[in-house]
Amino acid sequence: MIEQINTIKSCINQAAIACGRNPETIKLVAVSKTKSADMVSKAIKAGITIFGENYIQEAADKIKTLSYPNVSWHFIGHLQTNKAKPAVRLFDLIHTVDSLKLALELNKHAGKMNKVQNILIQVNIGNESSKSGIYSEKTLELVKNLSRLEYVSVKGLMTIPPFFENPEDTRPFFSALRKLKDLIIKETMPHVIINDLSMGMSNDYKVAIQEGATFVRIGTAIFGKRH
Ligand SMILES: *Cc1c(COP(=O)(O)O)cnc(C)c1O
Repeated sequence: MIEQINTIKSCINQAAIACGRNPETIKLVAVSKTKSADMVSKAIKAGITIFGENYIQEAADKIKTLSYPNVSWHFIGHLQTNKAKPAVRLFDLIHTVDSLKLALELNKHAGKMNKVQNILIQVNIGNESSKSGIYSEKTLELVKNLSRLEYVSVKGLMTIPPFFENPEDTRPFFSALRKLKDLIIKETMPHVIINDLSMGMSNDYKVAIQEGATFVRIGTAIFGKRH
């Protein structure tokens, strides 16, 4: 696993430099869903500092076992409104907010915990009826509504594009998310700072970096196949 982590890190650096970006602007989220606390612990020792988890209970168990300082946990799964409270308790960044209803719940619980919850808006950039995420054309309105909330801070956008064998085929979707971010920056109030783009997984993260990703979410290429 140490070897895989080093390989991914150097590929990220190379991809960034090759397209004229500062590699430090790209953060690696190691996706540890279904992987044991022991494997996560090994990944921490190999230099991983951000983990992405998809299931609240599984994440809670791991986070309790692994109390390392300087390790940050991100939620990247589908979040149900009734899990908003533990999500706020456990995660530094929630990548998958796609409705005002969910954001209001997060805002309520964050307020009670005296925390400002950082979030990304999950956009259904491929307009796939089977997928979570808000549609592109509704995103600006949602960001405007969320900018009024005191305990929620929108940091950027996230997407899971349709799957293609050939990563080149995902490029238009990544590029569309970036354009949407640029449009939102132009249209929203000055205090809304939307910088992050969470896009790119094991198969297509290099293309995502070329298109402006600031978070790449990588599971299989680090931890191996999931069962
Ligand atoms: C599982 C998952 C990933 C990681 O996918 P890999 O192909 O294993 O790198 C990334 N993002 C999300 C939202 C996921 O659910």
